[in-house]
Parts: sequence; C-alpha cells; structure tokens
Amino acid sequence: MNAHHSGIGMTSQRTRVRMIERLRTQGIVDEVVLAAMNAIPRHIFVEEILASRAYDDVALPINFGQTISSPFIVARMSELLRAGSTLGRVLEIGSGCGYQTAVLAQLAREVYSVERIGPLLTRARIRLRQLRLNNVRLKHGDGFLGLSEPAPFDGIVLSAATAHTPHQLLEQLAVGGRMVFPKGSGEQFLCVIEHNSQGYTETMLEEVRFVPMVPGILKG
Ligand code: SAH
Repeated sequence: MNAHHSGIGMTSQRTRVRMIERLRTQGIVDEVVLAAMNAIPRHIFVEEILASRAYDDVALPINFGQTISSPFIVARMSELLRAGSTLGRVLEIGSGCGYQTAVLAQLAREVYSVERIGPLLTRARIRLRQLRLNNVRLKHGDGFLGLSEPAPFDGIVLSAATAHTPHQLLEQLAVGGRMVFPKGSGEQFLCVIEHNSQGYTETMLEEVRFVPMVPGILKG
C-alpha cells in the first residue's frame, strides 16, 4: 500500500470495526449504541496529531485541560441512558469536542448540549455540521443550570463530575427519564437517577474518572 492509501481516511472504518469488537468484549451489548459508534468517525474530533490514537480505549486531550472521553465510557453512558429504548429529547452537559454529542444524535430524536468553554464549542459546532447532524443544538452556558426552555428531557448525561447531584438538572428530567453522571469529588462513581411517578431512585455503579464540573462560562 502506498502512502497515499494508508491515510487515516482509509484505515478508520477498519479501526472503527475493531473498536466495536473491543467494546463488545468490554461488555457493551446495546446494538443501537454499537451501530451509532460504528457510524461516527471519532478521529475527526481530535487534533490531527492524535488522530491515529482516536480509536484506542483512552481519553485524549482536547485543549483547555479537557479530554475526549474514552470509547468505552461513551458507550457505557449511552447504554445506561438509553436503557433499551429510543430517546426523545436529550440534554448533554459538557460537549467538549462534540464526539459524545454526535453519538447521542444517533440515539435520540433531539439533542441539546451545553458547554462552558466557548472555543471548544465553536470547534464542536464545525464538526457536527460537517457530519450533517441536524438534530443537535449546542449552547454556550453553565451546565449546572441546564436548559429550562426545552426542558423536560427524557435523558440527561453529564461528561464532567459533580460532588453532589445537581438539583436544577433533576427538575428538568421528565417522568420516565434518566440522568447518568459521574458523582463524587475524590473518588467518583457512575450514578443513574431514574424519575418515576413515585419520585427519584438512585443507583451507584462502577468507579470512573472525569474532569470536574466547573461553574460559570469561559469566553474567548
Ligand atoms: N463528552 C466530552 C467530554 C469533554 S470533558 C468529549 O468527549 O469531548 C468535559 C467537558 O465538560 C469539558 O469540555 C468542560 O469544559 C465541560 N464542562 C465542565 N463544567 C461545565 C459546566 N458547568 N457547564 C458546561 N460544561 C462544562
């Protein structure tokens, strides 16, 4: 194969298939999530210099001290959020590079995503537009506040950790809806909160590592 044909564009579909196989061995079973991750080119969400590592099972830097979540954590959170059924309106907090947003766009009718760092949001917007994902709305804002106007949401997912359950977000969760987030300050655990007609039930799952949620917005 000559250099012209060995570029990331040629290999990415194959690499993506390998990523999906790895996700299966790691315990991801939701075929809809696996199909969504097979469809989204993860390498376009990272700097070109990191593109060859985009499908490895690692978090990679995306500037401003933030990271793109590993494929496994994106799959795991998407699977927990979906819990086997199609999602209507979803809220994501922490768009970052926009990769999880793109995956969610395949799983839900409408996706709203809030990011506090302006320049990250600008880049995410360009990538999502390239992929023609028209059911996504990106907002520059403080995710602790959620989005009151399009609320309630059938699913809410946080890509940054909070020490305590963010109550303003819980109020934006529809009955029948689910919120998935990393909870804790020192040690963090995946937390799933379900909103049913009786109230809220919380389930704590495995230990995880995320950057912390930071209040307020950053322009620039
Ligand atoms: N899913 C993203 C994760 C990026 S890391 C990806 O894979 O790229 C977490 C993101 O949460 C960062 O971009 C960070 O800026 C953002 N974040 C942290 N606190 C926030 C807040 N209060 N509101 C909105 N976004 C926040």
